[in-house]
Amino acid sequence: MAQVLVTGASGFIALHCINQLLEQGHQVRGTVRSLSRRDELEAALTKAGRDVRALSLYEADLTKAEGWDEAVAGCDYVLHVASPFILGVPKHEDELIKPAVSGTDFVVSAAIRHKVKRVVLTSSGAAITDTHDGKTHFTEDDWTDVNHPKTSAYYKSKTLAEKHAWDLIAQQTGKGKTELSVINPTVVLGPTLTEDIGTSNDFIRQIVMGKVPAAANLHFGFVDVRDVAAAHILAMTHKKAAGERFIASADEMWLIELTTILNKAGYKKAPTGKMPNWLVKIFGLFDAPTKQISELLDSERFTPADKAKSVLGWQARDINGSILETAAQLKSMGMSK
Ligand code: NAP
Repeated sequence: MAQVLVTGASGFIALHCINQLLEQGHQVRGTVRSLSRRDELEAALTKAGRDVRALSLYEADLTKAEGWDEAVAGCDYVLHVASPFILGVPKHEDELIKPAVSGTDFVVSAAIRHKVKRVVLTSSGAAITDTHDGKTHFTEDDWTDVNHPKTSAYYKSKTLAEKHAWDLIAQQTGKGKTELSVINPTVVLGPTLTEDIGTSNDFIRQIVMGKVPAAANLHFGFVDVRDVAAAHILAMTHKKAAGERFIASADEMWLIELTTILNKAGYKKAPTGKMPNWLVKIFGLFDAPTKQISELLDSERFTPADKAKSVLGWQARDINGSILETAAQLKSMGMSK
């Protein structure tokens, strides 16, 4: 069994990675910004049936060099999952870009120094789909154009961080080089292990609580958090995963399809009507997050995970079930009224 570090242990995806690694019998380390989160994380994992004696936590921040060497030294593998993630728009794009890139620099450089076998980086579909060239079908060969004026700060942060990781790996010389494998998930949904529902599930919370009056013409890929964690663990050891990026996505749908699934399942505040593009654009004049969304209107984004399926043997569960499970968990937490 291996010694594995997962960065950002408190996060929605990272905690699922830790849960599955512990279940498989690995020794796991996790980084948190503050060790005061220890009780909360241990309680969540214990509730999920894990033995937390195989987990140790380390303090490290993506904006600071301290702590990373200590967390990485002696690890066989590193899953670098942590990155700032918000649904809204930051005051300045550097609020997202700087920690994403500097954190990747600290983690991947420490992994190289300590001769870690492989780093698995959580990138995103966001590092792939903003090519701004009219394309609708994307593969792992596509890269978001960070110089395009319509590319958002989050999309830039994920693209620049991933590119930096590939550069650091390519610059290694000598023997025993650290390998890199990258997972590019689309929008991640599914049950949370803690009381924190996670940034992307908040999107479902807003829909079931009636905060989305009508569905804008948006089209995204979606994937379950448990399958994203499984993709990371497959990429950690699979011989053919080194040097590769893998889209992790179950299916694509229009927002109206997602809200209709919820409405038909009894979440009656979920809209069944579409919002005309002109109205989204008018709202966008007064609200930065809506303006950001308006740049994506009518843009179809197909992101098939054929490569993850054929190379890693990865499987994705039906996303309609994950949408309903997410909504049911939110309801049980009193977050659907
Ligand atoms: P999340 O729950 O918000 O987790 C983000 C994690 O990053 C948290 O553990 C957070 O720590 C940590 N973090 C943020 N800023 C940090 C800093 N300065 N120093 C140290 N840690 C910091 O989000 P998630 O959905 O699990 O996302 C995890 C990764 O998946 C991110 O890289 C995200 O870009 C990527 N991703 C997510 C989705 C999605 O739809 N959820 C899709 C594609 C890719 P705190 O708990 O201390 O804030």
